[in-house]
Amino acid sequence: MSRYKTLDQSDLEFLRSVVGVERVLIGEAINEDYGRDELAEVRRMPDVLIEAENAKEISEIMAYAQKHKIPVVARGSGTGLVGSSVAIHGGIMISLQKMNKILELDSQNLTVTVEPGVLLMELAAYVSEQDYLYPPDPGEKSATIGGNIATNAGGMRAVKYGVTKDYVRGLEVVLPTGEIVELGGKVVKNSSGFDLKGLMIGSEGTLGIITKAILKILPLPAKSVSLLIPFVDIDHAIGCVSKIMNTKIIPTAVEFMEREVILDAQKYLGKNFPDHSSDAYLLLTYDGVSRMEIEAAYQPVADICFANGGLDLLIVDTDERKDAVWSARSAFLEAIKGSTTEMDECDVVVPKSHLAEMVHYTYTLKEKYNLRIKSFGHAGDGNLHIYLLKDELSEEVWKQKRDAIFDELYSKAFTLQGKVSGEHGIGFAKVEYFAKEEPPVVLALTRAIKKVFDPNLVLNPDKIVNLAK
Ligand SMILES: Cc1cc2nc3c(=O)[nH]c(=O)nc-3n(C[C@H](O)[C@H](O)[C@H](O)COP(=O)(O)OP(=O)(O)OC[C@H]3O[C@@H](n4cnc5c(N)ncnc54)[C@H](O)[C@@H]3O)c2cc1C
Repeated sequence: MSRYKTLDQSDLEFLRSVVGVERVLIGEAINEDYGRDELAEVRRMPDVLIEAENAKEISEIMAYAQKHKIPVVARGSGTGLVGSSVAIHGGIMISLQKMNKILELDSQNLTVTVEPGVLLMELAAYVSEQDYLYPPDPGEKSATIGGNIATNAGGMRAVKYGVTKDYVRGLEVVLPTGEIVELGGKVVKNSSGFDLKGLMIGSEGTLGIITKAILKILPLPAKSVSLLIPFVDIDHAIGCVSKIMNTKIIPTAVEFMEREVILDAQKYLGKNFPDHSSDAYLLLTYDGVSRMEIEAAYQPVADICFANGGLDLLIVDTDERKDAVWSARSAFLEAIKGSTTEMDECDVVVPKSHLAEMVHYTYTLKEKYNLRIKSFGHAGDGNLHIYLLKDELSEEVWKQKRDAIFDELYSKAFTLQGKVSGEHGIGFAKVEYFAKEEPPVVLALTRAIKKVFDPNLVLNPDKIVNLAK
């Protein structure tokens, strides 16, 4: 028997009384996209979709759901890759997409305050027009800021600037019990008690629903140049990364990519990549106040690469080249997806020094299981995106192979002192591997924290950890 109440007419009446009839969607009025996320491995439609417009509405709904034991899940753009925004127990889905206003840019405190449904691309463009930079740069620009905070999204610029959590100063959150709290604020430093704001970031919508965020911004660097460097092979490419970092001038981004994935992206976009003659590439970006400063930074890097298997150095500084390279990089995931019938992914992170070993291990598994496996990743921070492709396999064989490969991949990552997820989160799809990675005491603490915030376990239950245990 379900732990949760099935929604009935009186619940719908209540929801309509809070937000009005038009923003309570049921049955066929709910677009089927809301039954899955971008990877589409985990599927279930919510019983009702609420298009929330403010924190007060969410607060009333949360208090009611807590009292009546109705499951609730917050939803941004649904671009997640681990099933975290899927209503696996049915119930209420609260979409934050209509809460999409940029509320304030405070140039004295260098903060921007936004509602959670603002898209990353909208925020990036807005601050950039005013000569500021919001540094987190995950690949999917149509994700919401609320989703980025809830997953502690990483992205391309993490090497130099860090990840989403490094840019969240304050949050307004509706707790699972319905109270509205403000955590953190515009202050730069804060040693006042437990870091509850920090706990909220990356909690995948299990501890509260973010209804406002105060984010740190930086002055926009005047110039930025990318370098595309073909290498003799993947070992030389990844082997160069630590040497590049040792120049002490930290690049903004260090991505590695292989020819196969570049060819997929070319085909998917119908656009030529500047070079695809080599098996392996590094894509580096440097930013700074002037072209001279950037050139001074990358000259020693060019020397290092040429001395260690680099074959050429293509400077990506024209708009045309920037578009060709970065649009391809941003399309890798979609391009791989487009090259097969179905895929599953893992985004393990290992210490940077073990990245090449991890990539090689995927080659071994590819041979052993005779399955197409592709990867690319953030070489600067050890985060590897690995995709298993189903192609024409039967459902049964695909699942057997996929599960066996994942078991081996995660075991390998753990022996290399890695973690299940570098940036996509645990959601529902990776619960089993998170449980294998973490010691019982950590899992028990995670469950206990969840229970303190959410006594009846109604907000996004069974994500990150299985609560039935
Ligand atoms: C092509 C592609 C590239 C990607 N590249 C990257 C990348 O480089 N780096 C990276 O980190 N991720 C990447 N992702 C994954 C995805 O974009 C991120 O996880 C993103 O942060 C999800 O945001 P969203 O608005 O789509 O959230 P959703 O998918 O809707 O939700 C994700 C989680 O956040 C919770 N949530 C959403 N809004 C709120 C809120 N207001 N309050 C509380 N919880 C909330 C949901 O309940 C769910 O648990 C990529 C995805 C795709 C498809």
